[in-house]
This record gives sequence, structure tokens and C-alpha cells, in this order.
Amino acid sequence: MNDDAVRAQWNRVRGRLRDEFGEAAFKSWLNPLTLADVHNGQVRICVPTRFLRDWVVTHYGDRIRALWSKENGTINGVDIVVLPTTGPRPGVTANEPVANKSPAPAALVAPCEPAAASEEIGAPLDPRYRFDNFVVGKPNEFAYAAARRVAESDTVSFNPLFLYGGVGLGKTHLMHAVAWHIRERNPRRSVIYLSAEKFMYRFVRALRFQDTMAFKEQFRSVDVLMIDDVQFIGGKDSTQEEFFHTFNSLVDQGRQIIISADKSPSDLQGMEERLRSRLGCGLVADIHATSYELRLGIIGAKAEQMGVDVPRKVAEFLAHKITSNVRELEGALNRVVAHAQLVGRDITLESTQEVLHDLLRANDRRITIEEIQKRVAEHFNIRLADMHSARRARQVARPRQVAMYLAKQLTSRSLPEIGRKFGGRDHTTVMHAVKKVEELRGTDSTFDEDIELLRRMLES
Ligand code: ADP
Ligand code: MG
Repeated sequence: MNDDAVRAQWNRVRGRLRDEFGEAAFKSWLNPLTLADVHNGQVRICVPTRFLRDWVVTHYGDRIRALWSKENGTINGVDIVVLPTTGPRPGVTANEPVANKSPAPAALVAPCEPAAASEEIGAPLDPRYRFDNFVVGKPNEFAYAAARRVAESDTVSFNPLFLYGGVGLGKTHLMHAVAWHIRERNPRRSVIYLSAEKFMYRFVRALRFQDTMAFKEQFRSVDVLMIDDVQFIGGKDSTQEEFFHTFNSLVDQGRQIIISADKSPSDLQGMEERLRSRLGCGLVADIHATSYELRLGIIGAKAEQMGVDVPRKVAEFLAHKITSNVRELEGALNRVVAHAQLVGRDITLESTQEVLHDLLRANDRRITIEEIQKRVAEHFNIRLADMHSARRARQVARPRQVAMYLAKQLTSRSLPEIGRKFGGRDHTTVMHAVKKVEELRGTDSTFDEDIELLRRMLES
């Protein structure tokens, strides 16, 4: 087979990999791969380190094989082998057909500059993420208190501090706040903040440049190490291994570690048991979903920071409607403020609804039928199972109708879909329920208030 053809195939495979896995993953893991040769239907690809090989084989091996056989029907296997790029070019042997001909495209020659020794290993801190602009409420008070404690004490209080919670609830904000606080109090203490992804990337790069000693040294001299979004390490065995060692050696030396994740240590998927238990053996603090009061407080604080006047009604409306997380809430407020400033008018409820109509619809859709069933069952004090059961007694049938009605009002589900979620009922049953509840709301004001209350509770 012709070398240029093989090379072109390899370039297409690379292009595909880049498209499928994204630029960041490509750069970290796939760019270092070089094609050595193709022999008897067997492709040989070189990677500079064993770590990288294991990684690529586990995470991308199947895809690489599939893409190759799509490109070239004669290929029946792909070998990924370790060959440091610092030595002679890989695969340049007497009978090898590919690598050593005509100037190779850039893709085949991975540039190999050593890592700059002075390079900062951490990520920069966001100057907006401070303790004094973190709004504290019931859902985050524990995490906040724990973070403050760590920031204020000179000795290690609990190791690690493990913060977890859903996306956009302030984990990164708290970690940066700790880092700022420590740096200001004692500039000599070295605090390093980085994402778990960056940690992996750094580590792999150090391996590639055979520079792992320096890598470890850098972490060894750290007083406080913060690793954000550690769930990304899940399933990645060799990084876990390295992480585990770095972690242990820092703990042994009495250094403070702060970790964040989207789940508790015991729920982290693909984590090795010993790492999981190690992560959970300090203080585990969770940040709960925001409450209405906290959202209101955050809107007030942000409006004040921006120096704009947000009417109470608008703030309440936003706090009711944008319930997903703080990031979205902030985004919504920014949009409303920017719009008012652009058109030179005051912020009103009407303008807010107009500016945010797409976002509001998306948020409405997030209420699930399961949530509605749960809330309604609680409210009427019946068993959740009765939402699905065939019982027709009034005390369960009415709440069930209410739940169907709310499902119709608050979600974008169709009548048949709703019927299915209520023990496989027919769509006409749902239709009947909706009619019945509407009728009752018109005639019974207590009932009407009840439903309104439920609706608001579900939307908050
Ligand atoms: P996470 O890391 O948990 O995904 P972030 O820390 O990035 O969330 O927070 C998302 C955004 O919401 C940030 O702009 C942050 O400043 C803001 N934020 C989150 N919680 C609060 C809070 N309690 N008070 C003020 N701002 C907050
Ligand atoms: Mg974050």
C-alpha cells in the first residue's frame, strides 16, 4: 500500500477523533499519537508513555480501531505501543513503509518541547469569587462554614474537605474564596487550585516529557491543594492511581486538601474503593439545591453589586422561576439588567418576562411528573403508589386528578404521556381529570387556593 494513502487515512482518522472527542481531549490524549507503520493489515501507533498508552487504549482504542477499518478495509487490527518520542523517530526501521518518507505532515511529528520548569501548575483564581460576595442560606451554610474554617486556620482541620453539589451551586466560588483568603492572610503559603482535568493533563504531559519527578515535586511543596470537579477522574485508573499517591503524600505531610465533586464520595462512579474511602474520611459537606429565600438573597446581592434597582416583584418572579442553579439565575438577572440599560427603561415584570421567555419555558419544562406526583401525594397525605394504583376511592382519586392536572399545566408532556405515568391510564382519563379540576377551581375557593399553593411550591 502506498505511504501517502496510509498517511492520508491516518490524518482522516485523527480528524474524526478530534471532531468526536473535542479539541481539549484531542490535544491532551490523542495529539501525541504517531503512526509508525502498517504491516499485514496491522496498524502500529506509537505513544510516548505507558500511562498514555493505557489511557488511549481504554478510552479511545475501540474508536480508533473502528475508524481505521472504516478508512481501510484491509486493516484488521491496531496496536498501540510505547515509544518515547525523544529517541529516534518511532517506527523508522529498515522495512517500515511509512514514517520516514517525504516531509511528514505536522500531525505525524508531535512537537516535543520540554515543559517549562517555572510554569504555574495551578489555574488562575477568579477575582469575583470571594467570601464576602457569597450569599449564605440554609442550603449552603454548612459548606460555607467548613470552607471558612479551612481558610482561617493555620493547621489542618479536616483532611480533605470534600465539597459536593450539583452544577452551578457555588463549589468553585467557595474554593476560590478559600484560596484568596489564605493568600491574603499569608502570601507565603502556597495554595494551588486546579481542575481534575487539568491535573490529569499536567500529569500526562509530565510523563510524556519524562518529568514526573518535577511534577511530583511541585505538588509536594504545596500547602493547600484544591482539585475541582474530581468526578472527571472517575474511570481513569492510572490518573486515579497517581492522584491517590499525591493525595496520600500530601496528607502525610500535613498539607490541606480541598476537593469538589458533583456527588458524594460514596456515589462517585468509577472510583476505586480505597480512593473513595480516603476522599470521604475528612469532612464531607454538601451544597443543596437553592431555596427560594437563597435565590431572593442572591438576586438582591447581585443587583446591589451591579448598582441597579431591581423591583421586589421582579426579584420574586425570578426567584420563583429560575430554580435550576445560581449560574442560570445570575445569567437571567444579567440579561434583564443589560436589556433595561440598552433600551433605557426601568426593569419591570413585563420586560423581564419578555426578555426571558425562552429561559422561562426551559425552566418550566424541568418540572417532572414524578416530582408533581410526590408533592401532591405528600400534600394530600396519600401514598405515592396510589398515583399509579387502580383504586378509585375519592380520597385517592381526587389527588391523582390534581396531579394529572398539574402535569398538564406545568410540563410539556402530552395527555397520553401523562396517562402512562399514572399507572398506564388512558389519555381520556387525563382529559377528564383536567376538566374536573378546572371546574372545581371555579366553584370551590379553598380547593382553588390549594392548587395554587401546590403550583407555586412546584415552581419554586
Ligand atoms: P459550581 O462550581 O458548583 O458549578 P460555581 O461556583 O461556578 O458553581 O457558581 C456558579 C455561579 O454562581 C458563579 O458565578 C458564582 O459566583 C455564583 N454563585 C453560586 N453560589 C453563590 C452564592 N451562594 N452567592 C453568590 N454567588 C453564587
Ligand atoms: Mg465548578
